[in-house]
Order: sequence, then structure tokens, then C-alpha cells
Amino acid sequence: MNYRLVIVGPPGAGKGTQAAGVSERLGIPWLSTGQAFRDVITSGSELGDLIASYINEGNLVPDELTDRLVASRLDETGAENGFLLDGYPRTLAQVEALDKMLEERDAPLDAVIELDFPEEAIVDRLLKRAEVEGREDDTEEVIRHRIEVYHEKTQPLLDVYRKRGILVPIDGRGTIEEVRDRLIAGCRAFLGSK
Ligand code: ADP
Repeated sequence: MNYRLVIVGPPGAGKGTQAAGVSERLGIPWLSTGQAFRDVITSGSELGDLIASYINEGNLVPDELTDRLVASRLDETGAENGFLLDGYPRTLAQVEALDKMLEERDAPLDAVIELDFPEEAIVDRLLKRAEVEGREDDTEEVIRHRIEVYHEKTQPLLDVYRKRGILVPIDGRGTIEEVRDRLIAGCRAFLGSK
């Protein structure tokens, strides 16, 4: 089945890591807005510099720019082939934009996975990742700001999808493999029962 999925969770919950595993197991393309933005930054352009000015401070990239990026990626892979959106939507306005995009493509969402992770563990985890990956937005101050932005802008989305009956909460604690197995089992159980 060409499932159409979204994965949401606080920074450092392991969304990217898990998204890679899920997209491989379910055979659907993985679309990470954070990664797509980092690719634009690396390619070096004015647009890249603009995007970096938001990301490096831990702020969200403006909705319109983000929506356009997602729409064009969805058309590259073909929404009908299914997808796993990682890091999008992140604001209520993006939820609306995505609804419209998917309506136009006649491709409604099947499920929104909420990857839950205890907040007190996030900062430590991201600071460790900074040592390995060297992401500019992984300093303590920026990490704390990203967590605030998550609470303020992104958490309200969970209620919207819960009310639509497509939210699948998954406990993000444990090893990568444990979480991956839990996530795939949770998704399969939910999708199979639809
Ligand atoms: P994390 O979830 O750990 O913060 P991501 O790679 O998903 O990492 O995102 C990194 C940054 O990219 C975000 O802090 C934000 O600045 C930007 N970004 C990613 N997705 C979006 C989005 N949907 N809307 C606006 N900005 C985004």
C-alpha cells in the first residue's frame, strides 16, 4: 500500500532516524523538510542564506516558502506513490496548506505518527548529536528555543489530527530498533484497522 503519512515530534525525538527506517520498510518516499532545507543551504545561494538565517536561530522557515518546497517535492515523487512527511506540517497554517495540496492531488493522509519523547532528555541528546554532526542549530540556547517553538507552534497540530481520528501516538523511548519495531507495529495496526 502506498501510505501517506506524517511524522511529528519534538526536536531530538529521533524523527529523522525513524523516518528513514519506516520509509524503507513501507516502501514509501521520505520527505524531510529540515534535510531539504539543509541541502539548499549547502548548495550555496541567496535562498540558502535566507533559509539559514531562520534555521540557525532555531526559528521556523516562513510557511509560504516551506509549503512551496513540499508541494514541489510531492510532485517529484508523485503523491499517489505515498510519502512520509518528516517535519511538515509544523504550524496550523501548514496544516491548511497541506490539506489543500492533498485535496488537489486527491491523496488524503492516512495517519499522523506522534513520536513522543521526554523533554528533559532532549537537550542532552541534541548536544551529543552536535558533537557528531556539527549542526549549527544544535547549541544549547538554540535547542531550548526550538523546543519552545515546538510547544507554541507545532503541538497544537496534534489536537487537530487527534480530532480527525488519524493520530497514532508512539513512545519514542528505547533503542533505535525498539522504537522502529514499535512504530511499524503501531502503524500497521492502525492502518490495517482502517
Ligand atoms: P528538528 O526536528 O530536530 O528540529 P529538522 O531537521 O526537522 O530538525 O528541522 C530543522 C529546522 O528546519 C527547524 O528548526 C526549522 O528551522 C526548519 N524547518 C523544518 N521543517 C520546517 C517546517 N515545516 N516549517 C518551517 N521550518 C521548518
